[in-house]
Amino acid sequence: MPYLRLAIPSPLRRLFDYLPPQDCCIERLQPGVRVKVPFGRREVTGVLIEVSEITDVPTGKLKAAITVLDTQPPLPESLFKLARWAGNYYQHPLGDALSQALPVLLRKGGACEYAHQHLWRAAKAADIAQLGKTAARQRELLLLLLDHPNGISEDAIRAEGGQSSLLKKLEEKSLAESFIHKPNHQLQNSEPLHEAPLTLNNEQQAAVSAIVRSNGFTSFLLQGVTGSGKTEVYLQAIEHYIREGKQALILVPEIGLTPQTVARFKARFNLPVVVLHSNLTDRQRLDAWLQAKEGVARIIIGTRSAIFTPLKNPGVIFIDEEHDTSFKQQEGFRYNARDLAVMRGNYEDIPVVLGTATPAIESLYNARQGRYQWLKLNQRAGNAQPPKFELLDIRQLPLQDGLAEPLIQQIRGHLQQGTQVLIFLNRRGFAPTLMCHDCGWLADCKRCDAHMTLHRKPFHLHCHHCDSQRPVPATCDSCGSTELKPVGAGTERTEEALLKLFPEFPVIRVDRDTTQRKHSMQQIMDRVHEGKPCILVGTQMLAKGHHFPKVTLVAILNADSGLFSADFRGMERTAQLILQVSGRAGRAEHPGKVVMQTHHAEHPTITSLVTEGYQAFAEQELSQRISAQLPPSLYCAMFRAEANHQGLAERFLSKLRNLLEEDILQPHGIQWLGPLPSPMEKRAGLFRAQLVLQSRDRKALHHQLQSIIYQAETDPDARKVRWSVDVDPVDM
Ligand code: ADP
Ligand code: ZN
Ligand code: ZN
Repeated sequence: MPYLRLAIPSPLRRLFDYLPPQDCCIERLQPGVRVKVPFGRREVTGVLIEVSEITDVPTGKLKAAITVLDTQPPLPESLFKLARWAGNYYQHPLGDALSQALPVLLRKGGACEYAHQHLWRAAKAADIAQLGKTAARQRELLLLLLDHPNGISEDAIRAEGGQSSLLKKLEEKSLAESFIHKPNHQLQNSEPLHEAPLTLNNEQQAAVSAIVRSNGFTSFLLQGVTGSGKTEVYLQAIEHYIREGKQALILVPEIGLTPQTVARFKARFNLPVVVLHSNLTDRQRLDAWLQAKEGVARIIIGTRSAIFTPLKNPGVIFIDEEHDTSFKQQEGFRYNARDLAVMRGNYEDIPVVLGTATPAIESLYNARQGRYQWLKLNQRAGNAQPPKFELLDIRQLPLQDGLAEPLIQQIRGHLQQGTQVLIFLNRRGFAPTLMCHDCGWLADCKRCDAHMTLHRKPFHLHCHHCDSQRPVPATCDSCGSTELKPVGAGTERTEEALLKLFPEFPVIRVDRDTTQRKHSMQQIMDRVHEGKPCILVGTQMLAKGHHFPKVTLVAILNADSGLFSADFRGMERTAQLILQVSGRAGRAEHPGKVVMQTHHAEHPTITSLVTEGYQAFAEQELSQRISAQLPPSLYCAMFRAEANHQGLAERFLSKLRNLLEEDILQPHGIQWLGPLPSPMEKRAGLFRAQLVLQSRDRKALHHQLQSIIYQAETDPDARKVRWSVDVDPVDM
């Protein structure tokens, strides 16, 4: 008797056997099809891994599956393989990994087909004269239909002021008809370009040629300084694959999926471009996914999860800003979409291009080791020049709301010349905290080991770690004094200061608080692109992807933040951010300047970055990591645990550590660190701890992880803590 072995979305790291549903044709079942089954008290959607003749479960205990949902597996084989590989590699339950590779509607058991969209159009022989003078609203409606010969939905009719309730009347008079619309499945044969490509410079040309000449799978690191025209390289390489009838997948960081980026692709290509952004409904997402799967969508742009978009004719994959940490999912299924892209390229036998101005140290290492083919763009495209750096040593300089006088003068100079200024500060809100001037009390979050940020508009205290909020106290909680003072500056305070200093120029603040409303970012960008002198002040939302031709001065107010962080990647992140922000200066005909305020003007990282550039910094950083035995010179995994009493999480992790110590069969060369309290031990009311495992031998590490995970799953204390394992963690 055959059994269905299924992967089921659950925290359990095992497969589940079921009896086939009645009237099921076992021979036709392909691995990868979805099967609806009873699971506990629920019904869930599992994925068939195999049909087996044997099972460990006593026959009487086996439940029957309810129904097989697909005739064909929704995921093509390469993606099915990829999701299974990822579940395995990231030590994540396979059922959940496979489920996450599918659009939400399919996870819930929905049909793998387009929403059949009902549209209306005027009947072929419809004549407006058939409607009498009295039927004014029917006439209006018919005119609207005549304006949309390809059909229009009822929603759209209502949006245009038409009375959809009268459609039936028109239909009865044979003036209108409804029909079902399906996206066009034919690949266009017409010219794929809307606009002519730019003439490439030699470096760009070499990069495009290398990519399109790669025969099958190759991974490339495309390292191009900001403004070097990486996007133009993407566009022209994509054109090559499009002309071969293939598709391109482009992954961008969360913050980089801006209308500006998408507009560049839509402007270039006369083809369906599908954008998988977070505002899509589940239904829209499934339709977009199907268009990619059926080859209708030729260019697919999306964030991290788009790595699981099926492609009918895969041609090439690009990862833009490959160093960005948003490619790593930080909870649940902790995969890294950049690394999965390389694996996917391997399975699909197509090139994968990782583009960035500031490669992750891991990627630099891979390029050095020859795993990635290294392409470089050292010059800015067109006539743009690299920006000049100035370190502004602010030790002993008085600061006016975070701004030093020499900087204020330079801002004035640039505005008076008629250009724009960008001020970067990695803290939103008015001030990082509120302090009592009499006793030193600080407004701390009650649920986190962190200060609360003071916000002015609206006036309140806000914890940026757990999101809790409270009113600003009138007096000190500790001594009752009324002398409460904001400490430090956030974007709101800097904006206020700049408005006072430069009343004749607009000050535009860009951070999470000013861009929450739909289209607000677009409105801000439109204002900046008008080109009039203005001051932009904002967080890293300003750092990525934007092209501001009129910005000539970039100021980084707290260039030091991050230099002394507990995470060994603190330096790398600081350097990447500084370079990204600086890259906004002087991108067109006007030369750019970058002023960095610092308390550590002699710090070797800062100086090497400023005088020799990112490459020199990164090489230095890599060799330090190698000598300190840190990733990427070895493989790393981290167990995290959290609990609502202090010490519980650490106790739980200690038991896992003991297992390592006691394991006499322990493969050589596995080192561990901890358990230790996490850098911010208390967050959102939970106490957190971590245990790090490292090894040069990836297989040995993974083997060891499996036995520890088994221990963690079966430990009775596991019920009192929440734990997770993170393979190749990016924040430690
Ligand atoms: P990056 O992504 O490397 O920061 P972009 O692709 O945004 O750079 O290009 C920066 C600017 O240079 C854009 O305005 C782009 O149109 C322009 N550009 C790119 N390549 C060329 C080229 N070959 N000739 C002229 N201008 C170019
Ligand atoms: Zn006080
Ligand atoms: Zn908090």
